[in-house]
Amino acid sequence: MAHRLLALGECMVELSPEEGGDYCVGFAGDTFNTAWYARRIAPDAALDVAYFTAVSDDDQSARMLRFMRDAGIDVHTGTVAGGTPGLYMIFLDEGERSFGYWRSDSAARHLADHLERMPELVPGDIAYFSGITVAILPPEGRRSLLDKLQNCADKGVTVVFDPNLRPRLWASAEDMREWTMKAAGIAKIVLPSFDDEAAVFGDTDAAATAERYLGNGARIAVVKNGPGAVLVKDRDGDGFQYLPEPVEAICDTTAAGDSFNAAFLVDYLDRNRLREAVRAGCALARHVIAHRGALVPVSRMDLSREKTALPA
Ligand code: ADP
Repeated sequence: MAHRLLALGECMVELSPEEGGDYCVGFAGDTFNTAWYARRIAPDAALDVAYFTAVSDDDQSARMLRFMRDAGIDVHTGTVAGGTPGLYMIFLDEGERSFGYWRSDSAARHLADHLERMPELVPGDIAYFSGITVAILPPEGRRSLLDKLQNCADKGVTVVFDPNLRPRLWASAEDMREWTMKAAGIAKIVLPSFDDEAAVFGDTDAAATAERYLGNGARIAVVKNGPGAVLVKDRDGDGFQYLPEPVEAICDTTAAGDSFNAAFLVDYLDRNRLREAVRAGCALARHVIAHRGALVPVSRMDLSREKTALPA
């Protein structure tokens, strides 16, 4: 039977600069990027890729929904009347990128008011969310979402969490640390990035990050570290490191972690082998950072070529 990967969170309108000063309208957001990549690389018959969010009844939300559905994603939404989607803009200054966000009043912030619209998951399915999914919600929304995900975990759904720590989305560093650990406590698999974790939790190395999440209830911690080795540890003390193949010409590291997570999860669902899944994650992230934009076209063929190019 096909599995389902359900990602939860916020997709935003993206304005990115083009040659000549024009701006191009796209759609992106951390958990959505992961769903988008999962849909690109998983065979349709083997995996149903779904996204749960809240949108509004305006034209931009309608365009965003069309974009998601055209990408083959099974979208489930709550509707917030009279609102708008979040928006971010990419600024280019002599090749350096910076981002401006307009998301403080986005419809997605109300997603926890519509949890009855979240599709049913069964044992073996994956529910994937991030620290950003939690950060954008009001405190009561956070509690409802985490209760719902705990129910999923209790019935055998594999809950997966990427802390994706973004200090500016939180009222305080203490709030961020507390809710991050609460959310991570529901997850079987945690997919942190070491540099963010070191900055927020003071971890001295990737092993410290893994130990903190394993001690908090995770069964498996996969600690990404940019060009450094990915560290995988499980609760029984087993583990390994995997060094990503270097990328010669890095173009844009946007969505490196999101794309890693997609390929890791698709492969893990298929083969249940961690080393292969990490290898798949690194291969896709490598392809993504060699190109511009959050959503880089990729075919299953490209990826299998990337994978065979990697050392075993
Ligand atoms: P995030 O985007 O969440 O900050 P990381 O920077 O840790 O995530 O990167 C995620 C993954 O992307 C890494 O585990 C690695 O596979 C790949 N990656 C990132 N930067 C590089 C790089 N310079 N060279 C090769 N792979 C990279």
